Amino acid sequence: MKFALVLAAPLALAFTSFTAAPVLAKRAPAAVPAGAVSSPDPRASAAGEAILAAGGSAVDAAIAVMLALTVVEPQSSGIGGGGFLVRADGSDGMLTTFDGRETAPASATAQRFLDADGTLLARESRVTSGLSVGVPGNIALAAKAHQQFGNLPWAALFEPAIALARDGFRMNRRLHESLAQQKTRAGLTPEARAVFFGEDGEPLPIGALVKVPALAETFARLAAQGPAALYGEEAAGALAEYIAAETPQDGRMTAADITGYEAKEREAVCGAYRTYKVCGMGPPSSGGIAVIQMLGQLDRFNLAALGPQNPQFWHLFLESQRIAYADREIFLADSDFVDVPVAGLIAADYVSARGALINPDAALPKVEAGAPDGAAPRQAGVPVEPENGTTHFAVVDAAGHAVSYTSTVEGPFGSGLFWGGFYLNNELTDFDLEPEKNGVLVANRVEGGKRPRSSMAPSVVFDEEGRIVLVIGAAGGPTIPVQVARSIIGVVDFGLSAEQALGLPFIMSFGQAAVIEDGGALVPMTAELESFGHTIRRFAPPLKANALRRLPGGTWEVAVDPRLKGKLDYE
Ligand code: GLU
Repeated sequence: MKFALVLAAPLALAFTSFTAAPVLAKRAPAAVPAGAVSSPDPRASAAGEAILAAGGSAVDAAIAVMLALTVVEPQSSGIGGGGFLVRADGSDGMLTTFDGRETAPASATAQRFLDADGTLLARESRVTSGLSVGVPGNIALAAKAHQQFGNLPWAALFEPAIALARDGFRMNRRLHESLAQQKTRAGLTPEARAVFFGEDGEPLPIGALVKVPALAETFARLAAQGPAALYGEEAAGALAEYIAAETPQDGRMTAADITGYEAKEREAVCGAYRTYKVCGMGPPSSGGIAVIQMLGQLDRFNLAALGPQNPQFWHLFLESQRIAYADREIFLADSDFVDVPVAGLIAADYVSARGALINPDAALPKVEAGAPDGAAPRQAGVPVEPENGTTHFAVVDAAGHAVSYTSTVEGPFGSGLFWGGFYLNNELTDFDLEPEKNGVLVANRVEGGKRPRSSMAPSVVFDEEGRIVLVIGAAGGPTIPVQVARSIIGVVDFGLSAEQALGLPFIMSFGQAAVIEDGGALVPMTAELESFGHTIRRFAPPLKANALRRLPGGTWEVAVDPRLKGKLDYE
């Protein structure tokens, strides 16, 4: 690994612009000559763009974005959490995927979230305590990806984030609102209160300069020492001690859980959709498989002819979701612990047989998991609610290599525990909280050393000539694969720009009902959707997606979900 303590002068110069200057925070995301970056925060995008401009690879820039987001979007992701990175080679299309998913302590058991009587613990004991914290994975992932695909010295990747944390950044509306909504969690510790809240106990106002000196110091140590500054004996001992002290019952984290953490290279999952190839993350994420299934099951329908104004399109999409999610509930979990029939689940004949179940005129009365090759009988877990502690970003570099990276702390501000200037995740709540259903163990139950099932779906789409045409992903827990599949349909079938596709209405099947966005474009279509047999409810899903789309001539459209617009201003 390339740990350089001193940076080359031109690189250092390139970062002098990483101050709290308002002009940076206000600028629109833009394609840069050396590549392109799409992230949910312009300051994080600027970090990635500066790395690209300095000759960094897509992996270098993506790491810099992940670090910068730890500072400016602490509600969503950071080095106290984990993520999945999909890298696609611009020359030969080769895919490499990295799993930096948080991991349960070795002593964790299936009863982790239950009391001595087997009753589910109260929400705050589960979420805002050490019980929910998995060993953070993002730094280990970054180091592993950098080792293979980094161009710049490791320390250089930290410069933009160090400047943001040390010199400060302006509070924007989104962070301010998040802090206000999540006051208890975000302000759980005096250290976090001192950073984000005023003396009156209220979040700092929009436009206030926020400095996170402890995080600047953590970054400086990581830059100088490499991942050992988090996973080495000393740091691991201190972090484990902190988490264990906040853990109300057995199953506490130890230093060995942290020193033993490993980011893993996994096999990518790919499937065909029309003339395109869609690739993404396999287990422990359910995201890539769900996206491939939803799209593949719809391949037999002419969606382009229907278009997004036609309720029938949304009906078909809902049915495809129901079929894919029935499999997800049963089969998807950490494949190091549970036999996940990955090949069977995405096999073209299986996917089209599942798609054949869709009735174009009416909702199926009941949808059950299928029997893909290699599957053992299983029991479904309890569906989880959407969260909003996640972020997605996409990078393409000058050589045309792409990175699609989804990074998370799980819920907003993770567990609320704050150490070294960053929030610690509550990712372990992504396990099925109750280990059994109808007397049968569920695949995604807690086990020592296991990684909870994710919905994150960092994806890359190739055209028939093998060129990367779309780099895409989203935040929002189980809504993620739906957002990604819908946006791919928007680009591929409806011929939309990436931004228009990300801005398409949202609909998702949850349990017995289908939910649509309150105030969204599908509300006037409610009666027509109900006429297919769907029960329609409204809610406010935490939607947030980012993408890069290849334009003719080889430049890139930088797209952000239009729902985010106006939320980045700090006036
Ligand atoms: N923890 C969730 C997952 O890995 C993501 C949470 C979110 O998107 O807000 O699927």
